[in-house]
Amino acid sequence: MEKFSFTHFRRQFPILENLVNEHSLVYFDNAATTQKPVCVIESHNNYYQQSNANVHRASHALSARATAAYESARKKVKKLLNANAEEEIIWTKGSTESINLVAQSWGRTSLQPGDEIVLSYSEHHANIVPWQIVAEQTGAKIKVLPLNKAGQIAIAQLEDFIGERTRIVCVGHISNVIGRINPIENIIRVAKKYQALTLIDGAQAIAHLKVDVSDLDCDFYVFSAHKMYGPTGIGVLYGKQELLEQMPPYQAGGEMIKTVSFEQTTFNQLPHKFEAGTPNIAGVIALGAALEFLEQQDYSGLVTYETALKKYCFRQLSSIPALEFIVDEEPDIPIFSFTLTGHHNHDIATALDSVGIAVRAGHHCTMPLMHYLNITGCIRLSLSAYNSMQEVDFVVQQLEKLTQTDAQSLSTSSVNEIAEANFPQADRLTVDNILSLFAKAKSWDSKHREIMMLGKKQLPLAAKDKTPLSLISGCESHAWLVANENTDGKFCFKADSDAKVIRGLLTIILAAVDNKTAAQIHAFDMNSYFSELGLLQHLSPSRGNGVRAIVQKIQQLVAD
Ligand code: PLP
Repeated sequence: MEKFSFTHFRRQFPILENLVNEHSLVYFDNAATTQKPVCVIESHNNYYQQSNANVHRASHALSARATAAYESARKKVKKLLNANAEEEIIWTKGSTESINLVAQSWGRTSLQPGDEIVLSYSEHHANIVPWQIVAEQTGAKIKVLPLNKAGQIAIAQLEDFIGERTRIVCVGHISNVIGRINPIENIIRVAKKYQALTLIDGAQAIAHLKVDVSDLDCDFYVFSAHKMYGPTGIGVLYGKQELLEQMPPYQAGGEMIKTVSFEQTTFNQLPHKFEAGTPNIAGVIALGAALEFLEQQDYSGLVTYETALKKYCFRQLSSIPALEFIVDEEPDIPIFSFTLTGHHNHDIATALDSVGIAVRAGHHCTMPLMHYLNITGCIRLSLSAYNSMQEVDFVVQQLEKLTQTDAQSLSTSSVNEIAEANFPQADRLTVDNILSLFAKAKSWDSKHREIMMLGKKQLPLAAKDKTPLSLISGCESHAWLVANENTDGKFCFKADSDAKVIRGLLTIILAAVDNKTAAQIHAFDMNSYFSELGLLQHLSPSRGNGVRAIVQKIQQLVAD
């Protein structure tokens, strides 16, 4: 096996060569999904070009070929997890579906009123909501394990929460926000003491740790292929065979049956009992390719590099004065979550995006954790072994620049001069003014600067106007909108947001609706306007949702 070479490893991921917003892509959103190596992409293509057929059922060569590749991937996952049997490996859509399967198949049939399901404060919504639903269905209760200062599940208090009534303990191996390894061995041991089952959510751990389910002795372990260089839409539920044998099917249809008559249906053996319908064959085979890719790497070299990268990134980020990590200690895997004093998380993420850096900002599907930590959200940088120290330097340099420079000093922007000279107040801006500003701003970088400057034109809303009634729901940052109807039936608006980027978008939107009648507002085509501004393709899903939420609020206010 060849020694780990960063350059060689990175070269396997063609997407990293792309320009994004006219800048080299720096992909730091690996905890959401990793990029895919060429061999995984090719395996997907090859399947459709050479072996496409349904598995298990047909009696022809293509089906035999597809089935062999499909089942060979299951063998690879069994080996990866050191499971006892292939029957213990169930294909699902991902971690989310794996957890739902256990909650509905095992939980719905086993839980009784008063039984307890133990989770932790750092769980992803995928490991909370399925349990809430089954708790509602069965009368079971949810108990929540607290975290220690380092962000890990607190061992000292395990027995205050796990006890005689506990039926299952479901915890993340590593939180997708905190990046620390949870003491799952201790948790499994305490759960066993009370004959409770254990489910480990390995979504974040699988790409970074060697997982041995036999050694851990957990009852269930779940993960998604797309977080470990594999394709989206395929995941794994590992379950102990004797448990899976006792559990009823989760979904019903073809493939999961042995015999069907209108009088009685008998179910297929494991693992097929839990795999109703035509599966994601290409996805399973491409996951097999991802596992082969990982097997071919010098694992210890890869871990050494990733650890050095993580340490370097932690040190460099720690040097930014305004940066506050959500937990103080260095993470175990390269996931860094923080806020920047005086700056909205979404402003930072949008500014980084304008120079090609992909990061996440928001609640990261962990709203209870945000609440527990007393924050509304944070910025998350999540790295992989294909990221470089130079990329870390670039991000740190951008973060330093953003925290040192207030939007005020972005005086290169043309908006300042034009706006000051021609229309000093935001409420005087017209659609034509805005269109002419954006016509001059060609790149997303410069459009972003214009948005930020336009945000400065939005006068702050008085505290008395920031009410639940004026709050725009559906916007990830806080934003408020107040409408007043004049005697001539025309509306004027006041708006504010804690994110500068949303203030800028508000200015752009209000230019189109201010001093207009309800009929004119309803008739205005916001989509074409944003398209003409050249913004439609640049709005990330969360920004896009923000714009939709603002427009909906305006329409609601003028309709009332
Ligand atoms: N659990 C954790 C810890 C995660 O980070 C994620 C995804 O981010 C999930 C569960 C859900 O994974 P998926 O969306 O692939 O089902």
